[in-house]
Amino acid sequence: MVSLLLVGCAALQRVAGDIVLPAEDEIALGRELSRQFEEHYRLVPDEVVQSYVQDIGELLVVASGKPRPEVEWSFRVVDEPEEVNALALPGGWIYVYSGLLLMLDSEAELAGVLAHEIAHVNERHVAERLATIYGVEVLRTVALGRDPGTLATIVGSMVAQGYLLSYSRSQEREADALAVEYTIEAGWDPRSLATFFEALDELPRPPMWLSTHPSPLARKEFIHERVAGRVIPTTLGRERYQKVRERLRAPAEVRLGMIPKSLPSGCEEAIGGFKR
Ligand SMILES: [Zn+2]
Repeated sequence: MVSLLLVGCAALQRVAGDIVLPAEDEIALGRELSRQFEEHYRLVPDEVVQSYVQDIGELLVVASGKPRPEVEWSFRVVDEPEEVNALALPGGWIYVYSGLLLMLDSEAELAGVLAHEIAHVNERHVAERLATIYGVEVLRTVALGRDPGTLATIVGSMVAQGYLLSYSRSQEREADALAVEYTIEAGWDPRSLATFFEALDELPRPPMWLSTHPSPLARKEFIHERVAGRVIPTTLGRERYQKVRERLRAPAEVRLGMIPKSLPSGCEEAIGGFKR
């Protein structure tokens, strides 16, 4: 069943109108999945790091124009320093692995990554992919908590594979294009998405999910095409980001005890250039 989940999806065809999961079911499904997911994965215990990522995520949601006001957004950092990954569950639960945070260089890069995941939720890509694989009726049953077997299968594949599922290339492209718009609107330099893809391409051990994604260098070119000739913000927030990243590098006991539970100096100013 687990192997069918990821291999079999390409063979299934989308049937128009057949795979739309009602929004309330999608959110209930996301809640169930996130509960299971957090039983498998430990979250980074440092609340400063967690709320920093949550704040950036929320600014981007506002910048996205909130096309889905029913979604309650949650941005959480998973304590997996060796894993470079981020994923979105249906209904607005977004997880960033600490390995990805350690690899990123600036707040603008983090904003770009979060914006991409937000776009997957806003465009309902996550629910669509799951519905294509399982069918709407099964997902509704899972959302109601009545199919623990399928719930465990979905989460099991996420844990085993390190990612939720592979989106289509057009969905990835759409999410990249929207990420540029959200990032600009929120006041960060959207070219940071391109520098992130460049860094991804240079990783000595590329993450497994990369094999099902468009090549990072093609995505980098696409970002440059999207911003060419436009007036864009140039805020990177590198210093601010690196102070938060240092907290992730510190051993847990230092993170929890010796470092004050407030944002490091320089973080009090507004995150990004976004005007509330
Ligand atoms: Zn994606």
